[in-house]
Amino acid sequence: MSDSNPGAGALDIVALDGPGGVGKSSVAREVAARLGWLYIDTGAMYRAVTLAATEQGLSLNDEPALAQLARTLQIELRPHPGGDPTIWLDGRDVSLAIRTNQISVATALVADTPTVRHILVAHQRRLGEQGRVVMDGRDITTVVFPQARWKFYLDASLDERVQRRAEQLMAKGLWVNSEELAKQITERDRRDRIRPVGPLRIAPGATVIDTTSLSFETVVQTLLAQVQAELSLPAAV
Ligand code: C5P
Repeated sequence: MSDSNPGAGALDIVALDGPGGVGKSSVAREVAARLGWLYIDTGAMYRAVTLAATEQGLSLNDEPALAQLARTLQIELRPHPGGDPTIWLDGRDVSLAIRTNQISVATALVADTPTVRHILVAHQRRLGEQGRVVMDGRDITTVVFPQARWKFYLDASLDERVQRRAEQLMAKGLWVNSEELAKQITERDRRDRIRPVGPLRIAPGATVIDTTSLSFETVVQTLLAQVQAELSLPAAV
């Protein structure tokens, strides 16, 4: 499948990008739940490949080995009503294991690997091509589905993102050091923005929302209002 033709022009896809800790996943999951659509967390896929690579003792610089792994792994996102979807790797629930600090840091390296991105992007397009999906990540509006009917870029100040990510991790019972988290988020942002393949960018036509001082519900309602306004329009001829 070619990277340049997502073929999603007429499809009902809500594509969401933005930096780490902004709360994209929670917003995307909620918007999907209220629309009755499928939510696809693409960050979880990069994390799952990274977990498998570290478990198998692969060097995170070994592109052919990482690509071979990404090609053969069975990564499943299973919807979980009222909560985050669970992430399954070759039949094993890795939902918590992919969220540790160690995996977060290592994922930034794996996500820089062009062949791995190519394989995961193709997988994401297959999952989304039937439409009625909400997909979040770093390159969804720019690379995976640039022709999605709705494109959003969510942003927030670094302090706010550190706070949100800390709350998210603590809710999962994972240990948090705010200073360390701020450093990690800053470094991951930097890498996400400078990577040659699939960098984090604001896509043409994307609606940018600074969520720093907005409530979760306001952000969800803003997205839903745009989607529902257009869904109720007669189809373009
Ligand atoms: O969104 P989340 O923090 O779970 O993403 C984990 C990592 O995967 C991020 O640091 C980012 O570098 C990478 N990622 C990516 N492209 C995506 C989704 C995530 O490069 N579409």
